[in-house]
Amino acid sequence: MRVSGIGAAGQERLGRATVLIVGCGALGSHAADALARAGVGTLWLVDRDVVEWSNLQRQVLFTERDAHAGTPKAVAAAARLLECNSGIRATPFVAECSAAFLRTLPHPPDLVLDGTDNFPTRYLINDWCHRHAVPWIYAGAVATEGAAMVITPGRPCLRCLWPAAPEQAEVGTCETAGILAPAIAAVTAFQVAEALKLLVGAEPTRGVFTCDVWRGHYAVVPVAEGPAPDCVVCRGGEHPALVAASPAAVTLCGRDAVQIDPADAAGLDLAALADRLAGAVQDLVRTPHLLRFCADGCRWSVFPGGRALLFGVRDPLRARALYERWLGRR
Ligand SMILES: [Zn+2]
Repeated sequence: MRVSGIGAAGQERLGRATVLIVGCGALGSHAADALARAGVGTLWLVDRDVVEWSNLQRQVLFTERDAHAGTPKAVAAAARLLECNSGIRATPFVAECSAAFLRTLPHPPDLVLDGTDNFPTRYLINDWCHRHAVPWIYAGAVATEGAAMVITPGRPCLRCLWPAAPEQAEVGTCETAGILAPAIAAVTAFQVAEALKLLVGAEPTRGVFTCDVWRGHYAVVPVAEGPAPDCVVCRGGEHPALVAASPAAVTLCGRDAVQIDPADAAGLDLAALADRLAGAVQDLVRTPHLLRFCADGCRWSVFPGGRALLFGVRDPLRARALYERWLGRR
């Protein structure tokens, strides 16, 4: 409240705000931690993944206990945030952030923060936010570099800057290049400051923030005032990511893991599945959030409804075949 630009009125606005954080990995962890401690009243946390040991180097909301238990990141994050500030609401959604998921939200949030690691989800956020006139803040980091940008209605959107996703080989991934924790801290420092500004009604910074924490380089690169003349979203009024079907199997960034999210799996009952698998698979554990087991050399986490993460496999086709073998309808 003592900070010029926030004050008692700004603090009160933060308390009334709802922010959707997409992805609770490194970026989402840092941002959610800062917003919870700043007193942002309602945080919606969506993440499809579970905590693993290799996350602990940079994903500040998680502990060894979460990695040992394979707790869903959204659940572990919400629990940790409420330990830091019991005066806010933190709601976990253990789910893929898809167009279908976004339709289940009770109302649009005041702001969306990008904590993802992939462009398809960013385009989805971009298109959904454009349709609902919700501001959002892009952020990305790999190796020692990062970038972030505020995207508000009437200004350039993500597709104005990048009509198509950059090639993964071009930008590198956390898998090939790793990621240094201070790069996350630098990018989320910009992202969180801009989030607080937007939530209290201050004018956001325009342009793309870029940094390389190893080289000590920090800059804001100017962008055009208005949308690109050929942007399908801003000029064409289309929202391609809201109508595209989500892929049934995707390899997760940075790991030997594939997510299977079959459209026709709704209704898969974890208790019945646990009974069916007992004796046939190893290390079967049922928690309130998921079913874990080992089979065919893979570690499995299966969520209510049928979405599954397979660790120890990279090929989506093989993962789908394994899924059919163990979880397919009989
Ligand atoms: Zn645009």
